[in-house]
Amino acid sequence: MKFTTIFGELIDTPCVGCIVADNSKFKEGRIFQTQLWDISQDFEIPYPGMIVISPLRHVSNYMDLSDEELHELHQLTVICKKAIMDIFNCQKIAYMFYEKPNGHVHFVIIPLHGLVEINDKYAVLSELFAKAPSLLKDEQNIQRVLKTIHDLKVYFQNIIL
Ligand SMILES: [Zn+2]
Repeated sequence: MKFTTIFGELIDTPCVGCIVADNSKFKEGRIFQTQLWDISQDFEIPYPGMIVISPLRHVSNYMDLSDEELHELHQLTVICKKAIMDIFNCQKIAYMFYEKPNGHVHFVIIPLHGLVEINDKYAVLSELFAKAPSLLKDEQNIQRVLKTIHDLKVYFQNIIL
């Protein structure tokens, strides 16, 4: 499958999720890694603070995650939520779990507040996804995404699991 990341990098891979294990790809978007998990900005949607948590090994079924992976996933989810609350002063998040047909299980955190203004009001989730392709072209928005990645990296610098 070929796709272009939000930073204009063309990627050709059999499994989109597996690029998290290749640190030569999507460099600007990487936030934090453990031995088991990668935390990155969403590759395809330029929404500031939209964090994807993916296992570093190819796991296509949630039920195949190990107890160790699930324990650490919970720890990382809590840290990501705290980081979002701290960086954006945002109390609520959406948390989505994907088992896509190409098969790399991953979890997506989205801060639920007005990070992206559309038509003079803050976007709700459905509006956000409808507008995502045009947000990609908005340089101001990309700068917000990059600043958020930076802030998240700083937040994670002192994390010891
Ligand atoms: Zn994979």
